[in-house]
Amino acid sequence: MKKVDAVVIGAGPGGYVCAIRLAQYGKKVVLIEKHKLGGECLNYGCIPSKSLIFASSLFEKVTEGKKFGVEADNVRFNMASLQKWRENLVKKLNQGISFLLKQNKVEVLEGEAQFTSPTTIKVDKEEIEAVHFVIATGSQSLHIPGFEFDGKTVLSSKEALELSKLPHKILILGGGVIGLELGMYFSKLGVEIEVVEMMPQILPGTDKDLVHVLEKNLKKRKIEIHTSTKAKSLKIDSRLRGNDKGDRGNDKGDRGNDKGDRGNDEQWKGVTLTVEKDGKEVKLEGDILLVTIGRKAVTESLQLDKALIETDAKGFILVNPHLQTSSSHIYAIGDVTGGPLLAHKASFQGIQVANTIGRGAPTQPRPVSWAIFTDPEIAGVGLNEAQAVEQGHEAQVGKFPFAALGRASAVGETEGFVKIVSDKNTEVVLGVFIVGTHASDLISEGTLAVTHKLKLEDIASTIHPHPTLPEALMEASEAALGHAIHITNH
Ligand SMILES: Cc1cc2nc3c(=O)[nH]c(=O)nc-3n(C[C@H](O)[C@H](O)[C@H](O)COP(=O)(O)OP(=O)(O)OC[C@H]3O[C@@H](n4cnc5c(N)ncnc54)[C@H](O)[C@@H]3O)c2cc1C
Repeated sequence: MKKVDAVVIGAGPGGYVCAIRLAQYGKKVVLIEKHKLGGECLNYGCIPSKSLIFASSLFEKVTEGKKFGVEADNVRFNMASLQKWRENLVKKLNQGISFLLKQNKVEVLEGEAQFTSPTTIKVDKEEIEAVHFVIATGSQSLHIPGFEFDGKTVLSSKEALELSKLPHKILILGGGVIGLELGMYFSKLGVEIEVVEMMPQILPGTDKDLVHVLEKNLKKRKIEIHTSTKAKSLKIDSRLRGNDKGDRGNDKGDRGNDKGDRGNDEQWKGVTLTVEKDGKEVKLEGDILLVTIGRKAVTESLQLDKALIETDAKGFILVNPHLQTSSSHIYAIGDVTGGPLLAHKASFQGIQVANTIGRGAPTQPRPVSWAIFTDPEIAGVGLNEAQAVEQGHEAQVGKFPFAALGRASAVGETEGFVKIVSDKNTEVVLGVFIVGTHASDLISEGTLAVTHKLKLEDIASTIHPHPTLPEALMEASEAALGHAIHITNH
């Protein structure tokens, strides 16, 4: 039987990063992957979604460029070209990971891993013994009975990202991050979008003032949102809903009919979704239903019981702060351990575990920043005001609107603001929240501040180049200190 120092199961952003770092520590590592290197993030998540979102935003920018003097006639969107771009991009990055693994001498085994005991694992017919194991098997889309994915009419995010023809109307079940990011992508290409969310607000758990800015934008785009609304049943219509055949969409206002590559020859079967809203049953119709109601851990095939590994009630693997499972030589990282389900969290945990195994020095948990790639983007890190108070801080908030920032005005992106939460007594930055253009990039300065417990003055006294968007963080810090330059101080 082959014997190694560590077996890593799953080559997503958690697993492949962990395997490379372990190898850098001189460990003999086997990485087992049953599908594709890069996991959900590279193949069906972060990378393809951001690529498509960028393309649809570029299309929108070009069509709205008149005020900047950009006059482009007959701008068309070609879905086939975009899908080719996505495929090639994923392939290229895939090859990049393969190259890195080879360079670092990580042995990659293709196949599905199954524990046979707490110290052995099987891939096809091969059995391997290891001192340590790292489970990084990720998560997959959750479905609910009655709304099962069929890949054609009822889609998960994976199929939605791969659509090469645009339907007229998409119903989205679940107003969380993935549903709204994809909804906005399709909306920018002219697809009518209606979102059903069970909770009282979209992006449940996100601060209301941030969500409010997004809601206004969704309204402007005529994306219909039904909150506090529960999906009851789904009927897949047998009648085809083609562009020219049905009673829907083509003449519905000012949106999109001639925008994109809608594929006039494509016929959509159609769905009728019955929902309960304000105590009444309402029927919503669309060409397809996209279900983005959450994710579940991928553990079915691992035979966790053979390795004495425990899971929580939802099936996520239980770990301690050092990411050890109930079998202490077996670690679990990334999505399979539960939220937040984010690629950079998975990668950081991969490094943490590699540090523990490789040099006996566990890294402490760190604040995890998050970003939502809607328009405007939303991002955050650390404690919001309520959480800061809950943790015993006297919280103070400094806010700076993008409308007061030169660069934001220059590029016509004045929606939103930066909000910095700090402790009033120590002036240490506790949290940073941004809604607005490039929030996903801007948050890193906030993450640096929160991670290293910087003070408001540290950001305020740092010279930021002008005119740039990060100046908003400097101004928000100044606002918290009561002396912002470009807004009135209270
Ligand atoms: C549409 C979408 C957009 C997203 N956008 C973002 C974003 O912008 N930013 C962000 O941070 N996150 C984003 N995410 C989330 C991100 O993809 C995940 O958080 C991340 O992929 C988790 O990494 P992981 O390593 O834990 O697992 P995964 O990436 O899920 O990788 C797990 C791997 O394990 C393999 N595997 C499973 N079981 C076995 C087995 N028994 N044997 C062998 N191999 C196995 C799987 O095939 C898979 O390759 C998005 C997700 C989706 C769906």
